[in-house]
Amino acid sequence: MSSVSRNQIEVDLSALQGNCRAIQKRVGSGAGILAVVKSDGYGHGMIPVARALSKIGVRSFGVAEVHESVALRDAGVEGDIVVFLGAREEEFAEIVQYGVQPVVFEEKELRLLGSYAEKKECAIGVHLKVDSGMGRLGVLPGDVNRFVATIRQEKGLYLAGLMSHFPCADSADLDLTREQNRVFAEVVKKAADPGHLSPVHIANSAAAIRSPDVHWDMVRPGLSLYGCYPSDECRNFVDLKPVMSFKTEVIQVKDVPAGFGVSYGHTFVTKRPSRLALLPVGYNDGLLRNVSNKAHVLVRGKRAPQLGRVCMNVTVVDVTDIPGVESGDEVVLMGRQGEHQITADEIAGWMGTISYEVLCLFGNLNQRVYVGN
Ligand SMILES: *Cc1c(COP(=O)(O)O)cnc(C)c1O
Repeated sequence: MSSVSRNQIEVDLSALQGNCRAIQKRVGSGAGILAVVKSDGYGHGMIPVARALSKIGVRSFGVAEVHESVALRDAGVEGDIVVFLGAREEEFAEIVQYGVQPVVFEEKELRLLGSYAEKKECAIGVHLKVDSGMGRLGVLPGDVNRFVATIRQEKGLYLAGLMSHFPCADSADLDLTREQNRVFAEVVKKAADPGHLSPVHIANSAAAIRSPDVHWDMVRPGLSLYGCYPSDECRNFVDLKPVMSFKTEVIQVKDVPAGFGVSYGHTFVTKRPSRLALLPVGYNDGLLRNVSNKAHVLVRGKRAPQLGRVCMNVTVVDVTDIPGVESGDEVVLMGRQGEHQITADEIAGWMGTISYEVLCLFGNLNQRVYVGN
């Protein structure tokens, strides 16, 4: 291979498949899986992820926008593809050509889509999004019947699904989730044609893992497929394995005296004679500057603390207590090395964010390599 970056995201597709199987086992045979692969598969690469999941029988995928669904189809991914943010008028032709299902929540777009389908004499399946308490996208419960009536009036449209979303399925208190599911159940009951119930789906990873009573026909895991838990409350129900690792290598090792200022601003000054290792990675690669003086990395199977400010492309770590470190040594920024592991959750703690953001950040900024499968 010609020039590749020293910073690499390693994606373990076997781990991904294992997580999917574990989630399906936890959920049971009563509900199917719609694998959420938006944001380039949470930074893991939408197409390799969807292909690996297709291989083990996943038949439904969720993306945010139409262009993602087109890319999936062009890559040969079959089955249902649900587009969470719906379709714009200029994308209607693609919706039909690629046979994908937009989520609907706005009357104007729904009518435009209906006229388009009738004019083209085709049938477009839509998923109606209900805001049962998320407070975000979706039709309020009181408006659902009007939307359902519109969908049934439009000759070219059919209700391919009725869906909603939970805001607090990962929190310690599940009362809100139960209450929301009750509201949703009423909507489903009123909207359903007897004998012709559309696939109903509401559960994200947290609800799929923790709340068997809200699985309906299909669950929509995202984060858990990639091996992270939405919250500590979700940990005990299913065994997940991280899919993404982030690796780099040492490019310089040097010994410095006590009192040596490290990196911009000298926010760290050595307290003892120290051995520093320099890494070719920085905030340009997603290692955000706010982890400065907080992060750790793994080298030679041990944890090395990061020192001073993280720069755009360079980071300094302390290897004084790790014998034998030399340039070219593998460094794990996230993932496992020897007995130690640095998780997306730990990094999210240093950054003041959540694992979701860490995966998107690292995965979508760096070169990826695939292993397993
Ligand atoms: C992103 C998303 C999901 C997946 O949520 P996770 O918490 O990652 O499992 C499910 N449903 C919708 C509508 C989403 O936007």
